Amino acid sequence: MNQPLYVTKPYLPPLEEFKTYLEKIWERQILTNGGPFHEQLEEELAKYLGVKYVSLFANGTLALMTALQTLRISGDVITTPFSFAATAHSLLWNGSKPVFCDIEPGTYNLDPSKLEASITPDTKAIMPVHVYGTPCKIDKIQEIATDHGLKVIYDACHSFGVRYKGESVLNYGDLSVLSFHATKIFNTFEGGAIISHDPITKRRIDFLKNFGFSDEVTVVTPGMNAKMNEVQAAMGLIQLKTIDQRIERLKNVSLNYKKRLKNIEGITFLDEVADTKHNYSYFPILIDEEKFGVSRDKTYELLKTFNIFTRRYFYPLISEFPVYKSLPSSNPSNLPIATEISRKILCLPNFAVLTQGEIEHVCNSIIEIQKTVKEEVNQDARLVF
Ligand SMILES: *Cc1c(COP(=O)(O)O)cnc(C)c1O
Repeated sequence: MNQPLYVTKPYLPPLEEFKTYLEKIWERQILTNGGPFHEQLEEELAKYLGVKYVSLFANGTLALMTALQTLRISGDVITTPFSFAATAHSLLWNGSKPVFCDIEPGTYNLDPSKLEASITPDTKAIMPVHVYGTPCKIDKIQEIATDHGLKVIYDACHSFGVRYKGESVLNYGDLSVLSFHATKIFNTFEGGAIISHDPITKRRIDFLKNFGFSDEVTVVTPGMNAKMNEVQAAMGLIQLKTIDQRIERLKNVSLNYKKRLKNIEGITFLDEVADTKHNYSYFPILIDEEKFGVSRDKTYELLKTFNIFTRRYFYPLISEFPVYKSLPSSNPSNLPIATEISRKILCLPNFAVLTQGEIEHVCNSIIEIQKTVKEEVNQDARLVF
């Protein structure tokens, strides 16, 4: 049996290289509170990503919560049910109410044509997600936000390095939030960031992530402790050195998958968006049970027998979790596309060191599952006659 294949594999740099950074930390004895690696990573990330201001965080969820505090959002916030739970949780932790809006079939992102119908006098902001790094319809969303005087905070946790029309996708909206969790394409073990566009906002974010201290003796706002430490920042500095090569390899993985899967009836994948530099950090497919002959869930289970552990991101929808189910906007009739996509989606193993052989193994296993189940069905049919 081959080695188990998981949906992702965290990138770890050579340990020797990491040790040299640890030695520096031991030498300086600065472990956190805006240490030298923290400052250096903020600077290098701003340059790499092509954004004005980066504020580093201990994780992406704290960054989302702080982004809402930064803009003093309290009230209804329109968001997508097709995301990770933290998107909506950050709203509840801020005393805001998530209002779920349906997604588009082509990008799986918030559907701007359905956005306006969700807006009420209580709406304060929109929190869209660039799911799998595919940019949202940013121009359309901004137009609607401006018309209604709403703030836009992007959950850009999947969008490290993504560019749209030559510019970082993080430059859109009022704020964007990144995650550097171990499972993401760029990791600092755990970590995150808020991207802001002016120095006053950057300053407020930095106060908020450090108890609200503006100087040694002054607290200006009830901040929390959400700072990134020096070990995390060191990891980030090392990861930045290889990120371009890793994205390039992921692009190849994606091309390889598409080549092998394109002729399988009932399997489709996400189209690339025009004018976009993708990061290829996920490889989701849709399984149409009627055409493929096997349900998504059965395929997911049977793949485990081949030692392949895929993930159903995002199933269930956030709106289907018991905490959110009773919201009026959680009614499935309000979310037909999101409901359908979440029943068909499957994310395949996808990481930079995935080999050609492993990609073949995944694709052949999918083909094998289809063949076996179809034969079983035919046999059953013969038994009936
Ligand atoms: C990973 C992720 C988060 C949470 O980030 P953490 O760093 O794990 O706290 C939030 N939203 C989305 C869409 C994510 O993928």
